[in-house]
Amino acid sequence: MSRAVVAYLGVGANLGDREANIAASIDRLRRVPGVEVEALSPLHESEPVGGAPQARFLNGAVRLRTSLSPHALLAICQAIERDLGRPTPHGRNQPRPIDLDLLLYGDLTLDSSDLQLPHPRLFDREFVLRPLRALGVDLAAAPRPVRPVLVRAASEFAALSSSWWRGGCTIGLVPTMGALHAGHASLVQAARAECDRVAATIFVNPLQFGPHEDLALYPRPFAADLALLAREGVDAVFAPDDHEMYGERFASRISVGAEAEGMEGAARAGHFAGVATVVAKLFVLARPTHAYFGEKDGQQLEVIERLTLDLGFAIAIRRCPTVRAPDGLALSSRNVYLSPADRAAAPVLHRALADVKQAWVGGERDADALERRGQAVIAAEPRAKLDYFVVRDARAFVAARFVGDGGKTTRLIDNMPLDRS
Ligand code: AMP
Repeated sequence: MSRAVVAYLGVGANLGDREANIAASIDRLRRVPGVEVEALSPLHESEPVGGAPQARFLNGAVRLRTSLSPHALLAICQAIERDLGRPTPHGRNQPRPIDLDLLLYGDLTLDSSDLQLPHPRLFDREFVLRPLRALGVDLAAAPRPVRPVLVRAASEFAALSSSWWRGGCTIGLVPTMGALHAGHASLVQAARAECDRVAATIFVNPLQFGPHEDLALYPRPFAADLALLAREGVDAVFAPDDHEMYGERFASRISVGAEAEGMEGAARAGHFAGVATVVAKLFVLARPTHAYFGEKDGQQLEVIERLTLDLGFAIAIRRCPTVRAPDGLALSSRNVYLSPADRAAAPVLHRALADVKQAWVGGERDADALERRGQAVIAAEPRAKLDYFVVRDARAFVAARFVGDGGKTTRLIDNMPLDRS
């Protein structure tokens, strides 16, 4: 075959007669003009990744030589999958009679809406790597997936998301201010589990900081953040500068009503208008189908849910549970500011919430009594200065400051649902 390229496909099945399905798929491949199947690796079993409980997979890889373009080869794979009974469109991580993935196409790296080469999760999956090794692929010399794409310009981010839309992808958005930790990673994981494409944003939003807050000091470990997002498998990182987001004379704000009042809204004038404005801008740019936020910032989530409803964004807002350190402290980018003594004292926020929850579970429903309990737990920790302890809508919220040894104050917030675990 002249001008042929060597390509590798992953084959997998966990429904029906798995071996027969794989054999049938290879048989169909052999009959495609412009495709010459050269070798099939040994098949081996693997545990399913994600999704509902389901049967084990049988996996392998195929080496072929082809004169078809990558997109034509992809279309062939999809036609064979359909032919052998895989429904289209199909959800992620569903059981399937056959799965044909285009893993490698010569040395090509490609990022289009419907095809990414090498396969973006190739190097994370032993069930793909093993058969490739068996076929003698030198993985160290193989091209690396172009993940994640780093985008600085708003117009470029919008264009990327449009290309994803055109490809019929679901798009998960994970907005962050960087200084990423396992809490942020859990948001990305939730997005990966249900969306075809995931974009994370890193933007320390000046609109949501008051004049005397920590905007200038906010940690910005950009390289480490990118590495974490790459590890978690995001497809794109949007990291604009202030000018790119707000331009020269940006003057508009979205103000949200009752949800933004009290608690953080009272302690941080203008904070939620800043949050609502940046989130709305990101929604317009990214046009996500899903957006992921942490329950750790409970009032912020209420503001965003209200904004989404009021402005009619057709976006599913996903609430992700708070990720905590083993001693109960909610992970936060601001925890790095704490002195060792304050860090040791900071789990008092979680203890106060847990104490109030226990009272709730014991039948206490008087908000004042519950708040007094929480306040008393915080008061017993001399390093913590209480800002508020509020019980509303079956949820307890707390904010406290730690003054530190050098006089630098760190303010932490936390909250807990009282009526569920
Ligand atoms: P930030 O970078 O602080 O603006 O946070 C970005 C997103 O991560 C927000 O939706 C936060 O609620 C979420 N987040 C922050 N900390 C945690 C945590 N400990 N667990 C889960 N989500 C979190």
